Amino acid sequence: MVLATNSDSEEHLHSTFASRYVRAVVPRFKMPDTSMPKDAAYQVINDELMLDGNPRLNLASFVTTWMEPECDKLIMDSVNKNYVDMDEYPVTTELQNRCVNMIANLFHAPVGEDEAAIGCGTVGSSEAIMLAGLAFKRKWQQRRRAQGLPTDNPNIVTGANVQVCWEKFARYFEVELKEVKLREDYYVMDPTKAVEMVDENTICVAAILGSTLTGEFEDVKLLNDLLAEKNAETGWDTPIHVDAASGGFIAPFLYPDLEWDFRLPWVKSINVSGHKYGLVYAGVGWIVWRTKEDLPEELVFHINYLGADQPTFTLNFSKGSSQIIAQYYQFIRLGFEGYKNIMENCMDNARRLREGIEMTGKFHILSKDVGVPLVAFSLKDSSKHTVFEIAESLRKFGWIIPAYTMPADAQHIAVLRVVIREDFSRGLADRLITHIIQVLKEIEGLPSRIAHLAAAAKVSGEEEVKTSKMSLEDITKYWKRLVEHKRNIVC
Ligand SMILES: *Cc1c(COP(=O)(O)O)cnc(C)c1O
Repeated sequence: MVLATNSDSEEHLHSTFASRYVRAVVPRFKMPDTSMPKDAAYQVINDELMLDGNPRLNLASFVTTWMEPECDKLIMDSVNKNYVDMDEYPVTTELQNRCVNMIANLFHAPVGEDEAAIGCGTVGSSEAIMLAGLAFKRKWQQRRRAQGLPTDNPNIVTGANVQVCWEKFARYFEVELKEVKLREDYYVMDPTKAVEMVDENTICVAAILGSTLTGEFEDVKLLNDLLAEKNAETGWDTPIHVDAASGGFIAPFLYPDLEWDFRLPWVKSINVSGHKYGLVYAGVGWIVWRTKEDLPEELVFHINYLGADQPTFTLNFSKGSSQIIAQYYQFIRLGFEGYKNIMENCMDNARRLREGIEMTGKFHILSKDVGVPLVAFSLKDSSKHTVFEIAESLRKFGWIIPAYTMPADAQHIAVLRVVIREDFSRGLADRLITHIIQVLKEIEGLPSRIAHLAAAAKVSGEEEVKTSKMSLEDITKYWKRLVEHKRNIVC
């Protein structure tokens, strides 16, 4: 199709691979001076992208990697619609509002049958959390000012297991992050300790429904009860936000009696990622407030569309409409029944994988039976080989599985985590188990890299450590060197 010369007459005679474009240096720093044919541009980019991992085998991420072809079609049909043009695309706006209502209802917001809920679509849970945090900060400031008290030191209480977006919120919006430390065998926020850390400057306590590290649900009910007591004693109004990025679309279907949402009076806002167990491709999150009073009016902008008032509260302006439309598709296509079946399947496959991993006898399981469908596991004996080597070896089969160390005070624990999504079915789970067994066999036959590093340390004059007598702390120290050049981002 594409040719080596610029002569138009020959343009359609040659294939892309017969053209000069496939042997030219790929532009990396400077925009090229001249154009190239569209099929050559396509080929060059497509071919380089082949080296990316396969999203379906990326077990590191909660984010959706499969949707039905009918929905793919809706997405492509609306890919040129800017969500923000509400005047031009009133139906899309209406679909977003319907999604907010359905989610608020799922989370038991005190909203009447035909009453609109308070919330909005976002790019993801991160944006949703920024908005929730801003609302809490503003509410706290208003309260303090009304009482003639200073407003210069707001803080937020979370567990040390929070997702990085909370650290971003704290840094970007100048709120101190007070983290409850974890400990070995307890990898979520301890509600008692969290409430102890609450003071008059606390804008909210953030609980996670589905810790990123182990999938475990934090005890929001206990947090609510302890906080209610403290608020009654002190006269403060410290509220709760639930970060239900992954668990928000699991708990309502699998554990309907678990009280974690607006059924608890101190829960004022909840975020959920539409692109995780909401089952939509990357680019959609949701934030819902309990009532109108929980979202300070001064943060809301009002857009007049078709004579009606459309309130908006977002950090960005333009964004695609596809994800909102896709979310609405999933809600009406699957219904409660469909979501429940999918979540049950995920749980079953997680259980199957967990059993297979336990059967090797080499691992401790850190994830719980109740929570997000994932398996987090650590090696019982890390004195010779590490989870990092296992993750690396599994890559050659195509599996992308993250290995990481836990946050403070459990830094000496290193884990592997496999997230089970809708599209990870039993056949894949069984194959993964086989590959883990194979990798364990292979690395057992290899010399220990830790012993090697320890010996190298001795030669370079550092303190001598006998590998047989190594403590968990020593081993961690050596792992860190093994993996220093690698940054595993757990998302
Ligand atoms: C994924 C995740 C986030 C961030 O969500 P995005 O939708 O990726 O922005 C926040 N909190 C928790 C608990 C998460 O799992």
